[in-house]
Amino acid sequence: MAREAMLDALVLRCRDYKENDKLVTIFSAAEGKETLLARGARKPDGSLRPLAQPFSRVSVQKVAGRGSLDILTQGEIIEPFLPIKADLNKIAYAAYLAELVIISLPENKPQPQVYASLLAAWSMLSLSERHAQAARFMELRLLDALGLRPYLDGCRACGRSLEGGSFYLSPGRGGIICRACRGSDSGIISAGTVRNMQRLLDAPLTRVPQLSISEAMLQEMELALTPYLRYYLEGSGRAREFLRRLENEQ
Ligand SMILES: [Zn+2]
Repeated sequence: MAREAMLDALVLRCRDYKENDKLVTIFSAAEGKETLLARGARKPDGSLRPLAQPFSRVSVQKVAGRGSLDILTQGEIIEPFLPIKADLNKIAYAAYLAELVIISLPENKPQPQVYASLLAAWSMLSLSERHAQAARFMELRLLDALGLRPYLDGCRACGRSLEGGSFYLSPGRGGIICRACRGSDSGIISAGTVRNMQRLLDAPLTRVPQLSISEAMLQEMELALTPYLRYYLEGSGRAREFLRRLENEQ
């Protein structure tokens, strides 16, 4: 019976609440994003203290609270992602990806695709130094899951194929347009970069860490995706500023 109530979840964020408690925002494949009250989690000997730390995969139990918040009653850490917690740069990326999920998904709406993507992205951050690749992967998969996948098969305006050269990712058109249709050279991405964006969108999750994408292409993607995310996801600019701030603090 009790096992049925266990929820496999990723801990996105934890905030101090009242004198001894914490608010723990979790994201589970089964129930989506929600914030739980962890009583006593601020106390040094609080039994929930280890669970109330961001960037772990946990299995938790909850009960309905009297107010709007459900209450975290017990649980265990399944994967602590210790390398993330030991590295400020990894923490910054993990927090940025958690923030993207927080700002873009409603409460209590299951999003198993996004859950699987975030788990894969945190695993990449934990196991490798390919942070930018993990971030671009998560951004693209999130857009896809939300029905905002950019059209990348050719120019949105004239139909020119990817063989035709360089492109611009247009938020307004929901995909790429060619340099000729764009009428400007700013924000241009190469056809190779577009192909790698397709790979990040479509490769099986286990293959994504092995995709070999150059730093230059990942930078082109970042420049193209920043305005795209800002256009579609309210608050994504704030999430990215948060990442920059953490990076600059180091
Ligand atoms: Zn065109």
